[in-house]
Amino acid sequence: MRGQPQEFDRVLSSMCTEPHPVAREAAERYLATNPGDPATYQAVADLEDDAVATLGSLVGLDDPAGYIASGGTEANIQAVRMARNRAVTSTPNVVVPESAHFSFQKAADVLSVELRVAPMTDDLTVDVGAVRRFCDEDTALVVGIAGTTEYGRVDPIPILADLADEVGAMLHVDAAWGGFVLPFTDHEWHFGHADVDTMTIDPHKMGQAAIPAGGLLARDEALFDALAVDTPYLESAKQATLTGTRSGAGVASAAAVLDELWPDGYREQYERSMANAEWYADAMGDRGFDVVEPDLPLVTVDVPSGLFEGLRDAGWRVSTTGDDEMRVVMMPHVTREMLAAFVSDVDRLTPTANINT
Ligand SMILES: *Cc1c(COP(=O)(O)O)cnc(C)c1O
Repeated sequence: MRGQPQEFDRVLSSMCTEPHPVAREAAERYLATNPGDPATYQAVADLEDDAVATLGSLVGLDDPAGYIASGGTEANIQAVRMARNRAVTSTPNVVVPESAHFSFQKAADVLSVELRVAPMTDDLTVDVGAVRRFCDEDTALVVGIAGTTEYGRVDPIPILADLADEVGAMLHVDAAWGGFVLPFTDHEWHFGHADVDTMTIDPHKMGQAAIPAGGLLARDEALFDALAVDTPYLESAKQATLTGTRSGAGVASAAAVLDELWPDGYREQYERSMANAEWYADAMGDRGFDVVEPDLPLVTVDVPSGLFEGLRDAGWRVSTTGDDEMRVVMMPHVTREMLAAFVSDVDRLTPTANINT
């Protein structure tokens, strides 16, 4: 076999990480299972129930409905599909924040719904006045983001829930990345805080499961009726997932790591990641860069493009926001030593970078 996968020691912008050892082991054991046919592959179907039950405790749901999806993209598409199929109008629209992940564009495209994009305020959360103006009798779904991809910000979910309720729309919360750190903060973001209908929460990001392991949760099993189709050739009669055959490795790894780390292991990881975010934000602030202060463990800094290119040339895997700010995501593999080495490369490259820009 050719090649080697990348090391993680210079990966700073990814939202994925090394799977936890128990996740890796479970993924290997369940490689030859297909939770898409739960009646035949019962053991992995039971693990999926366990994983969904534990996800329920992270998000304030006693009796959660849901499944382990291929990722946040599938979960978001399915949430839009659910709302569209339940809507009475033939011209449904979905109101999303400007900070929404690009998967909602894919959802709108494949499902032929109109996407109405509400701007952000200066604090980088959605402008609720704009959401109110965009909502009308054709609004099938309002989306709030709990942990935005670019800045790690949390939209005012209880206010969005009220707005959705006023127009008879559903409310979806996208906590794909944030869902495994938010339980340890004071934010109001989940089913226990507001009338949330559906939520995306991905074990394969901060949850340390093996890819593919996304999560779609709903407050009520009946909501999945809007997605179910008959499945003639399988042992089970109906299927509400978007994919057919799907990865038992992802499902088993999610169940194993949730069992291992919830709640204490995830709390410790949140505290480590947050301390790293604050350390790095201070270090860059001290050097005179414009830093977007971290709320969750993700830090965005405005750096000259010459410096950004220099860091990339030095092997650092970093990316930028739509506004060209450099993002560092404090995933579990990102250690203080890595950040210190990164900052010393910033120091080494800064004079050259300034000349180049
Ligand atoms: C990563 C992310 C997604 C997409 O998830 P995939 O697993 O990459 O498909 C959706 N929403 C948010 C907020 C994300 O951070």
